[in-house]
Amino acid sequence: MGSIIADLLAIEKGLESGSRAGNNGMGTAQEKIILKSPALKKYILEKCYPREHELLKELREATIEQHPFWSLMTVTIDEGLLLSMLLKTMNAKKTLEIGVFTGYSLLTTALALPADGKITAIDRNREAYQTGLPFIQKAGVEHKINFIESDALSALNDLITNGKQEGTFDFAFVDADKEGYIKYHELLLKLVKIGGVIAYDNTLWFGSVAEPEEDKMDEYMKLGRKCLTELNSFLATDPRIESSLVSIGDGLTLCRRIC
Ligand code: SAM
Ligand code: CA
Repeated sequence: MGSIIADLLAIEKGLESGSRAGNNGMGTAQEKIILKSPALKKYILEKCYPREHELLKELREATIEQHPFWSLMTVTIDEGLLLSMLLKTMNAKKTLEIGVFTGYSLLTTALALPADGKITAIDRNREAYQTGLPFIQKAGVEHKINFIESDALSALNDLITNGKQEGTFDFAFVDADKEGYIKYHELLLKLVKIGGVIAYDNTLWFGSVAEPEEDKMDEYMKLGRKCLTELNSFLATDPRIESSLVSIGDGLTLCRRIC
């Protein structure tokens, strides 16, 4: 794994408050799609682009303009389309989002929920959210969002202890620090209702989960790989859920709470 991956990993780690001129030719979020076949990647993206909501497109472009380096953090267009369809198919009304950045996945969710839908969105840094907020407002969906600026672990604990919201969420999307996923899982299993879905992003970790750990692998790459391989093994045998690891974006694991 070269320096581009190291940069990507630094981004995923949440160095979101910084800014850099350009992103060293790393390109956009679309280029971190896990598919290794350039022809298939191109085919899917060309077929997906026309389906992207106009305001999501505007938010994505503003993210690239205002956060040229960090823009890679947004979910890919095809993954957003899948999340949107899933939320609508489930008739989701009340959701959780951990890791907002500029709000691409958040606006995707807000557009998919009904008018009285509610999203609790958690991020430890509100700064980048200001980039996406005008598009969320323009879409007329801001009223669905409760943004909590906090570390995810304490916010989730607070929803359980003080918010008394156990078993009330239809869906949770997790796209923050990978070290935290396994801890969030225990809390999310309390917060999401039986039959509800928890979705974990980046579970293929740039393909590294299937590769041997190499000495030349960046330390953070190793840490992410360790966290995600442990998470993937844990989820695969967790009797409280059924799960499916979808090869979209950088890997998306869908977990349905069954007990
Ligand atoms: N889902 C977003 C999208 O599609 O545009 C991208 C989220 S980005 C990959 C990760 C975000 O997680 C960053 O905005 C970062 O501030 C946030 N984050 C990282 N660790 C966190 C933590 N422990 N608690 C809360 N937020 C965290
Ligand atoms: Ca992600």
